[in-house]
Amino acid sequence: MHARYQRRLAELPVGGRRVTIHLRVRRFVCVAPECALRTFAEQVPGLTARYARASVALRRQWQTIAVALAGRPGARLAARSAIGESRSTLLRLLR
Ligand SMILES: [Zn+2]
Repeated sequence: MHARYQRRLAELPVGGRRVTIHLRVRRFVCVAPECALRTFAEQVPGLTARYARASVALRRQWQTIAVALAGRPGARLAARSAIGESRSTLLRLLR
């Protein structure tokens, strides 16, 4: 193990309020000499993904909105349902 660090993760809303998960994760060092990843962070299956700042469930929700509405209407709906995300993020998820 290399270090521990705090990670903040946006999650699906509860009772119409935004939720942030404060997660303490471990960073490991890979000892395999041929490996390109020198260090890598622990992931929680079904909750986190590499580099993502939102939970798997929230990202799935954004993708559903993006596919259904795309762009500006999707961003408005996401904002109104307390899972607000920018138009550009929704479009990026769509791609
Ligand atoms: Zn490795």
